[in-house]
Amino acid sequence: MGRHAAVVGGGIGGLAAAIGLRAAGWEVTVLERSAALPETGTGLGIWPGALRALDALGVGAEVRRRGRRQADGLIRRPDGSRIAAIDVGRLERRHGEPVHLITRPALLEVLAGALPGPVLRFGAPVDDPGSLAEAYDLVVGADGIGSVVRTVLHGDRCPLRYAGAVAWRGVADIEVPVGGETWGRGRKFGVTPEGPGRTNWYAAVALPEGHPPPADDREELRRLFGDWHQPIPRLLGALAADGVLRHEIRDLTPLPSYVSGRVALLGDAAHAMTPDLGQGACQALIDAVALADCLHDTDDVPAALRAYDRRRRRPTQRIAAAARWTGRLAHARRLLPARDALLRLALAAGPPA
Ligand SMILES: Cc1cc2nc3c(=O)[nH]c(=O)nc-3n(C[C@H](O)[C@H](O)[C@H](O)COP(=O)(O)OP(=O)(O)OC[C@H]3O[C@@H](n4cnc5c(N)ncnc54)[C@H](O)[C@@H]3O)c2cc1C
Repeated sequence: MGRHAAVVGGGIGGLAAAIGLRAAGWEVTVLERSAALPETGTGLGIWPGALRALDALGVGAEVRRRGRRQADGLIRRPDGSRIAAIDVGRLERRHGEPVHLITRPALLEVLAGALPGPVLRFGAPVDDPGSLAEAYDLVVGADGIGSVVRTVLHGDRCPLRYAGAVAWRGVADIEVPVGGETWGRGRKFGVTPEGPGRTNWYAAVALPEGHPPPADDREELRRLFGDWHQPIPRLLGALAADGVLRHEIRDLTPLPSYVSGRVALLGDAAHAMTPDLGQGACQALIDAVALADCLHDTDDVPAALRAYDRRRRRPTQRIAAAARWTGRLAHARRLLPARDALLRLALAAGPPA
């Protein structure tokens, strides 16, 4: 049989899968609905396991070069007192290196740069993934949280679930001395230094589903967080009018399978998770390497995809459940001393690598 794969979605998981599949001897076409790679975007934390996946794809050194090592941080209360420390050194001792921070556009640029031009087709939205399965030997659904490929496998049986909170995020032209999060009653605020004079920030607030958006996001953020410790008020004062994104946080009901016949899902299409552990992109990269590995040296695509499903479904669903649990903890409204103690315990147990 032939070895021509269609990858739906040229995001982090799709581009990584294309690199891996090409190295495993597949001809690959990536169909991406956007007209070009994004030029703006916030930072992503890439954990050691995902850095190893990038190494397997041959681009790990470039990601480390373009990114920066995450420094130690703090989890604090709104008055600035400390709940727990984020000890990067411990992660480094355990896994050989720390988390590296890189912006989404930079990571996509590195991945796209490892593919020959004709592989990646921009302006190519896929509306009917079922027809791709007839034209290609393998279809990879890497089309993110709203995946159309997932509907071919599961219809609407496994819907997205509201996670109980609304998030705002952006990048501010301001420098903060230390990164970390601040957890209050039913809300949290996070900052990650991105480079000289730039800081990624995000905020999440427990709200009922469908809560009407505020007339002015910046005003709302100042109302919610303006009396928290510095540098939060200073950062909120520096927000550009068009620099605030707002969305309801959702994750995916666990799927009974990531594969069917010659169709496979990876990344957010397979296991969209809440952003609370910063693991979604990392797991998409690890999925991509596992998928290519299973499809190396075999003509039995359905059997290879079943092996991929066995390898990746359980660990990714465990991390997604942990992310949802962490979000609940962060947005708790009651028993805050017990919540803080639980957080310290969870940090002591260590995050997924
Ligand atoms: C606030 C926030 C912070 C985060 N921080 C981190 C972090 O620090 N570390 C981390 O690992 N993860 C983080 N994540 C998660 C991470 O962004 C996602 O998990 C990751 O982008 C998933 O990659 P993907 O390739 O599966 O999907 P996506 O990145 O969503 O890519 C999907 C691609 O498919 C394309 N597409 C969609 N539908 C179609 C179609 N029908 N036809 C053609 N193309 C299509 C889209 O245009 C897109 O390019 C964060 C997420 C959020 C919201």
